[in-house]
Amino acid sequence: GTLLSGKTAFITGAGSGIGRAAALTMARHGAAVGLIDLMDGRCHEVEEEIRSEGGRALFVDTDVSNPERMARAAASVAREFGGQIHLLFANAGINGTLAPIEDMTPEDWDKTLNVNLKGSFLALKYSIPYMKQSGGSIIITSSINGNRKFSGFGMCAYSSSKAGQVAFAKMAALELARYHIRVNAICPGAIDTNIGENTNSTPQLDKISIPVNYPEGSQPLEHGPGHPQQVADLVLFLSSDHASHITGTEIYIDGAETLL
Ligand code: NAD
Repeated sequence: GTLLSGKTAFITGAGSGIGRAAALTMARHGAAVGLIDLMDGRCHEVEEEIRSEGGRALFVDTDVSNPERMARAAASVAREFGGQIHLLFANAGINGTLAPIEDMTPEDWDKTLNVNLKGSFLALKYSIPYMKQSGGSIIITSSINGNRKFSGFGMCAYSSSKAGQVAFAKMAALELARYHIRVNAICPGAIDTNIGENTNSTPQLDKISIPVNYPEGSQPLEHGPGHPQQVADLVLFLSSDHASHITGTEIYIDGAETLL
């Protein structure tokens, strides 16, 4: 495809799951992609995969919660691909530690908020200087959790971070409209990725009982979790000029999971 030809994208959490699928999809539609992830992620492989398909990709090993590293990452991606960034997918995120509020340590709370919410802020802060001139599209990965669904056990920090990301996206949409930069949040339901692998749960978690009236993770449409490619297709659409009048909103992509 050529939907994104001539565009440069900055994608965080590109080494796995939704970010990986989005990076491959955007590259296959002509974008040059800056891939941001931690060294212990699998992002080098994504970079190689895109290059082997003839696409343009640059992996920059970066913790999204580190301001200096994020500033350098944005500069590196812009420098590599012609000076501008047109598309930003602020997607890196962690479940973090799941615990009842009284057992959640302040450090665990900070870690989740720093990666998910502050990481999104830093992605915009350091990309905007490279986006103002030509305009573009910013997509922030939030979640149904914290917005339409609150039954994730022990997810007080995660849900708060995900709600914050939607508010942040809306403030950014208003602020950046003058530069013709659109900003939207996407809110996936359960998606089949590796995010559960790095989740810490305290033993006290089984003390929480939040009533749920449907099986955890079920989706009427999918009969199970959705797939990263389905979210990547939404990211592709929001990145493209086909979404030219969509800004300041949040889009649920959950197979109607939250209607149950
Ligand atoms: P994933 O774990 O498969 O991928 C996340 C990637 O982010 C990993 O490669 C990881 O290394 C990277 N990452 C984590 N911390 C980072 C940091 N500090 N700096 C840089 N990179 C970091 O998970 P995923 O499911 O693809 O998650 C992507 C986004 O989707 C997250 O924001 C998550 O909250 C959101 N989300 C996921 C689901 C789901 O069910 N999988 C549902 C709703 C929202």
